[in-house]
Amino acid sequence: MSSDREQRPPLRKPPWLKRRIQAGATYQEVHRIIQRSKLHTVCQEAHCPNLGECFSQGTATFLILGDRCTRNCRFCAVAHGPVGPPDSEEPHRLAEAVQNMGLRYVVVTSVTRDDLSDGGSGHFAQTISEIRRQVPTARIEVLVPDFQGSDSAVTTVFQARPDVFNHNLETVARLYPKVRPGADYRRSLRLLKRVRALSSDMPTKSGLMLGLGESPEELRQALFDLLEVECRMLTLGQYLQPSRDHLPVERFLPPEAFEQWRDIALEMGFREVASGPFVRSSYRAGELYEGLKS
Ligand code: SF4
Repeated sequence: MSSDREQRPPLRKPPWLKRRIQAGATYQEVHRIIQRSKLHTVCQEAHCPNLGECFSQGTATFLILGDRCTRNCRFCAVAHGPVGPPDSEEPHRLAEAVQNMGLRYVVVTSVTRDDLSDGGSGHFAQTISEIRRQVPTARIEVLVPDFQGSDSAVTTVFQARPDVFNHNLETVARLYPKVRPGADYRRSLRLLKRVRALSSDMPTKSGLMLGLGESPEELRQALFDLLEVECRMLTLGQYLQPSRDHLPVERFLPPEAFEQWRDIALEMGFREVASGPFVRSSYRAGELYEGLKS
């Protein structure tokens, strides 16, 4: 049942969060390729505010293993509901779309599939291998669910050798029961630690949404915890309420606050940080990766 707090009228969006969708020829072409390939993108399913910009630049983040999730996180717009078996042709079609879109940097994420014995890790690995086969020059970032803490699932994805291993913390520890019921703060940190234990040279990355009611001290602690597990790439963005059924925004942080958090995170020890109201974990992901490598 929703609390009174959740039933209050939503905060008005501040002017810096208003954007116009750009929908030129590249945007239409990306749309067409995705539709024709029968693929899903998190850009569309999660109502990402950057969709116009990213599609117009010829990029997108692919959502594998279906468009329905077995969990029902209170912040996420991806639909929850009955799921089907993994589509064995999806890795091939996705790699083909990467080629057709001319992508040099690909982000692949998935819904959470708690119903599958391997959490969908095998499908991730097949997708990586198929992209490598069809587009050997593409860099690949995976943004994985927590696989219910399964080390073997993490190992399966790791062994397919993505270029960046991303897993979002999403929010601070105290807010987990409210924001991510079914997930566990320490479990997510352990996943990132596990990747580092498998290889010291695979970059790990994580992200948090701000404006869900976290305090500055709690956010600092979360950043500290990420550094403790040797995560060095970070994204910080404004939480936006996808619908009235989702958690309300507690605070809209001004762009300057995001700049300050970027400076703080860099000072604390992160190597690459993207922080801004519209930043999402896949936003300009290729640029963040290039920054790490330069
Ligand atoms: S930020 Fe990521 S999810 Fe959003 S539109 Fe761009 S690529 Fe898609």
